[in-house]
Amino acid sequence: MLRLPAVLLVLLACPLLFGEALEIYWIDVEGGAATLIVTPDGETVLMDAGWPGLDDRDPLRIVRVLEQEIGKTELDYFIVSHFHRDHVGGVAALASMIPIHRFVDHGDSVEVGWNERADALWASYVEAAGDRRMQVRPGDRLPLKNTDFLFVAARSRFLDSPLVEQGPNPACRDAVSRPEDKGENGKSVGFLIRVGQFEFLDLGDLSWNYEIETACPANLFGEIDLYQVTHHGMHTSGAPAHIESIRPLVAVMNNGPRKGGSPATYQALANSASLQDLWQVHRAVQSGPEHNPSAEFIANLGETEGCDAHWIRATVEPDGRFTVTNSRLGFSKDYTPR
Ligand SMILES: [Zn+2]
Ligand SMILES: [Zn+2]
Repeated sequence: MLRLPAVLLVLLACPLLFGEALEIYWIDVEGGAATLIVTPDGETVLMDAGWPGLDDRDPLRIVRVLEQEIGKTELDYFIVSHFHRDHVGGVAALASMIPIHRFVDHGDSVEVGWNERADALWASYVEAAGDRRMQVRPGDRLPLKNTDFLFVAARSRFLDSPLVEQGPNPACRDAVSRPEDKGENGKSVGFLIRVGQFEFLDLGDLSWNYEIETACPANLFGEIDLYQVTHHGMHTSGAPAHIESIRPLVAVMNNGPRKGGSPATYQALANSASLQDLWQVHRAVQSGPEHNPSAEFIANLGETEGCDAHWIRATVEPDGRFTVTNSRLGFSKDYTPR
């Protein structure tokens, strides 16, 4: 039998695990958030860790994707977009299952003292993170080897100037504000990943008025090829002026069967002339077929939680072309960035 030196075996095995592509997984956490990014260098970044409790359902789903799809047993970075249960709830249990090297946040929770539940969530995060916390501001970058990972929102602050200079933004004409949001949603950490012409934008649960602030009067982000629909597609986000400004090519919504996926957000996305496809982690069961994409673009069709937890994945090639895959069917579609 041919014997290869160990170092050569490692070199041969590596491309199987860490190819040239950047991968983004939307792990099903039933209307919470868990967006996992794997860079071409094999670095792992998880934004949000799903809900607490439920026999550790969500951290176990995250570990399963990490181990089975990526061949990893640790996380380089955990980013908490904000301190709500469906985002930070799973991280204490996750940190007991796998090493997490850095914890990234917008600063201390602004909901401390609001109620016992908010206090308990905050305390569990502080304990899990220990001295590995790292606070970020818009304009900061995650120190990855070769991947451009830019923070664009944190604690209701945004980039100082637009990424691409443009004239007056026509989408602002009909922008209507809503009552002020003083809670954690509006503090969400947001980031942009760029690969060649390709951009991916994730703004956590950023709320309506702040979405407008990122677009009006100056369109800070410009065109976005792949957009994680803000706030699970709930009607308290999804401001049309924001969606019209980023002109998404492809959108992915991390909704649950009965969480997010609002007809209003669906309609705002459908009204966007640029949008080719909306992918959803769940069918929005209360919205009806007229406010859901066709089944091949939906990872989980069931009426209730506790489903098979199929994921959606985007694979981004070094030239920015990308493929989105629904793990339930193995159905994929290719896209060319603008
Ligand atoms: Zn949420
Ligand atoms: Zn929230």
